[in-house]
Amino acid sequence: MISQSTIQQILSRIDIIEIVGGFIKLKKRGANYLGLCPFHNEKTPSFTVSPSKEIYKCFGCGKSGNTISFLMEHEKYSYTDALKWLAAKYNVEIEETYASPEALQQRQTSDSLFIINGFAQKYFTQQLTETEEGQTIALSYLKERGFREDIIQKFQLGYSPSQKDAFSKEAVQQQFNPELLLKTGLVTERQGILLDNYRERIIFPIHNQTGKIIGFGARIIGKKEHAPKYINTPENDLYIKSRILYGSYFARQAIDKNDECLLVEGYTDVIALHQAGIEHVVASGGTSLTPDQLRLIKKYTGNLTILYDGDAAGVKAAMRGLDLALEEGLNVKLVLIPDNEDPDSYVHKVGTAAFIQFIQQNKKDVILFQLEVLLKDAGDDSAKKSVVVQTIAESISRMNKVEDFTRQQDYIRQSAQLLRIDESGLHALVNKLIRERVSKQEQKVNTPVPPPKTNETSVTDETLALFTKDEIHEKELIRCLMDFGNLPWDETLSVAQHILAEGDEWDMVSNPDLKKIMNVYKQWLDEGLEPTMKNFLFHEDSSISQTVVGLTEIRHEISTKWKEVYDIDVITREQQYLAEVQSVLIFLKLRKIKGMIDENQRELEQVKDASQLTLLIKTHQHLKSLESQLTRELGTVILK
Ligand code: ZN
Repeated sequence: MISQSTIQQILSRIDIIEIVGGFIKLKKRGANYLGLCPFHNEKTPSFTVSPSKEIYKCFGCGKSGNTISFLMEHEKYSYTDALKWLAAKYNVEIEETYASPEALQQRQTSDSLFIINGFAQKYFTQQLTETEEGQTIALSYLKERGFREDIIQKFQLGYSPSQKDAFSKEAVQQQFNPELLLKTGLVTERQGILLDNYRERIIFPIHNQTGKIIGFGARIIGKKEHAPKYINTPENDLYIKSRILYGSYFARQAIDKNDECLLVEGYTDVIALHQAGIEHVVASGGTSLTPDQLRLIKKYTGNLTILYDGDAAGVKAAMRGLDLALEEGLNVKLVLIPDNEDPDSYVHKVGTAAFIQFIQQNKKDVILFQLEVLLKDAGDDSAKKSVVVQTIAESISRMNKVEDFTRQQDYIRQSAQLLRIDESGLHALVNKLIRERVSKQEQKVNTPVPPPKTNETSVTDETLALFTKDEIHEKELIRCLMDFGNLPWDETLSVAQHILAEGDEWDMVSNPDLKKIMNVYKQWLDEGLEPTMKNFLFHEDSSISQTVVGLTEIRHEISTKWKEVYDIDVITREQQYLAEVQSVLIFLKLRKIKGMIDENQRELEQVKDASQLTLLIKTHQHLKSLESQLTRELGTVILK
């Protein structure tokens, strides 16, 4: 773990304009800086960076955050990686808190493996481009297969010579530890002698998220009997197969921009598509998808499009990962590459534009794709076929949200075609299933009745909408906590102590992220730490820092709303913080009371027992009087 004092040193040096400006072009506009958003495609800049607040915000796509979240988002770094990157940039020496001897040992091993891998990559690349053997055997082969030099360079491809100990000798001469060399999988040991593991092969370095090399894939050149087509690095401290997506380092920004990740099988598929300008692509390495790989994809995008080679074996292998992908909440689409081609050969054959068009037009939903598989299985068996119809109608009927209507119609049309049944018949079946489900739900739900009209003071519906529609007052409360927490509330309590006590008693904050911030605030206060806005802005838990960034925007919104409802000028904030804290607390209490009145009302509608009725009416009256008391208090707070 990086020590707190190191983190503080890094944070004190961060210049958001310098960091963000290093990735995108920023222009000064008033107090802020403006640029083209790196997270969505735009022609007029709406990406704003505020040096004073140390945050950025895009008014096009809504992405916002601080320097660290920018690095995490843009470079796909982890929190720790982002800190390390900043430390290197600002020459801050990283001091780590105590780690166990095992953990230290493990990190040393990892560091050494990275160094050897880096050395090996340079060696293999040199062999490919600067030796006669590499040029005649390997470089010519790559060029024959249509790979351009800039792409070969970008992916740092290499060549391992045919001499059986060429690399081993070089590595030993560099005084690398033999034990570690063996661990990289680059060499093996035969009777005390180190020999190369890869001979006469094309070398594909495999990069992690930050571009460091964690291992290699070595592909045979041409066809050879009895030799595996690929040899990969064995599992070690760095190379953990289930977590690797080949090409993810080169694809990360394109995936972000396209909001889609294409998944292919092989290394050469990834490289060929890059060369064609299609960069949002990664490879699974031919195995079925693992949960770790899916989570990695989900870090970049919610949309996964899997490109299958035409052969049936490939389809079945990849299908195994699909349930997992759906469980991870990914929107999965499937495309079959036609004519027994793979993405590599197909993009060469048809070109970029046609390839993209083919993908767009042939993306299939999991439902339709599985329908095809089910149908193939059913064959001509009409009993089996009717089960398929029923299953598909069930699935389609479950998408009965308004926004899914068009999709649903599409499904019905396409499924009817595949099933070779009448479209209107399938339509009727789906509608029947929807009706059945709706009527079942209606029996369960009791429609709430509006509360009885009374002469008591009551907040207007308009105001009520303010309470229930969004979490603006919950946010405002947290904002007060940050801004005024240290100021006195009365002779004995600080504002923070008062808010936290009221929060406990009334349980008025329901948003889990805001609740979390309150809890952390309390914890820091108890530990004698000072819970400042900045500490929250750079909190390791991204849900906390994101929420706090969101808080900086709510001022304007809330002031205009108050003005609309009460037709008054809103008091200035710093001068009148007590009034502000009080009014926010009252707003939240009123909202709570409103909710309790509604709930009581629902019970009133159902009650059969007379004594219970009396109790409920009493509760109603009590809540109503609390409500009018709070409304009066609110009036005096706001109008005084
Ligand atoms: Zn944007």
